[in-house]
Amino acid sequence: MSSAAYDVVIVGAGIVGAACADEFARRGMRVAVVDRDVVGSGATAAGMGHIVVMNDSEAQFALTRYSQELWQALRPDLPADVEYEQCGTIWVAADEEEMAEVRRKHAYYAERGVPTTVLDSQELMRLEPNLRTGLAGGLLVAEDVVLYPPCAARFLMERAQKHGAHLRLGASVAHIGEGRVRLSDGFEMTGKIIVNAAGAWAPGLTVGVEIKKRKGHLVITDRYPGFLRHQLVELGYLKSAHSVTGDSVAFNVQPRRTGQILIGSSRQYGAEHKDVDQQILRRMLQRAQEYMPALGSMSAVRTWTGFRAATPDKLPLIGPWPGDESLFLATGLEGLGITTSLATARILVDQITGSKPEIPIEPYLPSRAKREFAHA
Ligand SMILES: Cc1cc2nc3c(=O)[nH]c(=O)nc-3n(C[C@H](O)[C@H](O)[C@H](O)COP(=O)(O)OP(=O)(O)OC[C@H]3O[C@@H](n4cnc5c(N)ncnc54)[C@H](O)[C@@H]3O)c2cc1C
Repeated sequence: MSSAAYDVVIVGAGIVGAACADEFARRGMRVAVVDRDVVGSGATAAGMGHIVVMNDSEAQFALTRYSQELWQALRPDLPADVEYEQCGTIWVAADEEEMAEVRRKHAYYAERGVPTTVLDSQELMRLEPNLRTGLAGGLLVAEDVVLYPPCAARFLMERAQKHGAHLRLGASVAHIGEGRVRLSDGFEMTGKIIVNAAGAWAPGLTVGVEIKKRKGHLVITDRYPGFLRHQLVELGYLKSAHSVTGDSVAFNVQPRRTGQILIGSSRQYGAEHKDVDQQILRRMLQRAQEYMPALGSMSAVRTWTGFRAATPDKLPLIGPWPGDESLFLATGLEGLGITTSLATARILVDQITGSKPEIPIEPYLPSRAKREFAHA
């Protein structure tokens, strides 16, 4: 059995592992990243790539907004294949009850310096003429972005490698802890810091991590340039995302640079197989057509699924894992891991290097999860 020694060994080369590698390496640490597959192959390859500010809680708002600002700052360095587009989000309100939510969201964002515009029915139709008529209005969040996650992960990993990070792909990790990462072939790597960034598979490596797989389906259409201009999400999406039991679907569509339309999304617990579930897919597409009837006449070119890493309180796990001084978590980012990857990496590395994080980190510390979830 042979071995190699580093300051930091990161398990997982998804967007979170890649962002952590980049952040550690740019601060001069000796980094290794291990993945059983290729860079950006897990949930990162399956995600929509919506860089979105969300306000389910103050902690969620702080992390999503901070990370969105980090993406904005990174924009000039991103290669064209990352397809960074600041197309904005429109939260679509079907009725007056949802318009009340639009106004609440608008006030919340205005207080915190996020520019948004309340749209009435006519303005909504002017901005997105392919929506059905009769919708009440919406909220335009102009600074939200879409990008192509696998290429964003690859960019971050390549930048880490330029700063000396070592990447080991096709290597399955069997065990981590106490400063060691053991691969299934017996090879061992040591690190003062070990980061579990294995996404939905993190509990398999760190016993006691409370993460459940939350399956999602997506469909991408053929090219229909100009059909859609913003990321559109029904306000009912929030109910779907909040549901802790049962399967749910919500209207969520995204314009790609190619003119293709990415259609989502679904959420399922207890569905461990990555096969496409035709029943869920049908429900998801029906929901999409209720908002955009013309989607029904488009051709779909591909359908796939992925697994979000969901924690019981819907906040990520970023920081030290109690009971093992060497072990840190960077996982549990559910449906926001593309958005929050940069902030996750930044506050993790701030904690480890003793720099002051720019946002309060307590809501994301794994210690709260061990305490609260154990008594839930
Ligand atoms: C349908 C869907 C839509 C989404 N849309 C969005 C969106 O619009 N915006 C957004 O912000 N987020 C979105 N997300 C969430 C986002 O995709 C994830 O939160 C994010 O990709 C998580 O990245 P990660 O690096 O933590 O995990 P992953 O990308 O899953 O990476 C984990 C890596 O760990 C590796 N690994 C696991 N176990 C081992 C092992 N034992 N040995 C070696 N390697 C291992 C895997 O191979 C994998 O590469 C969506 C997710 C889904 C499923």
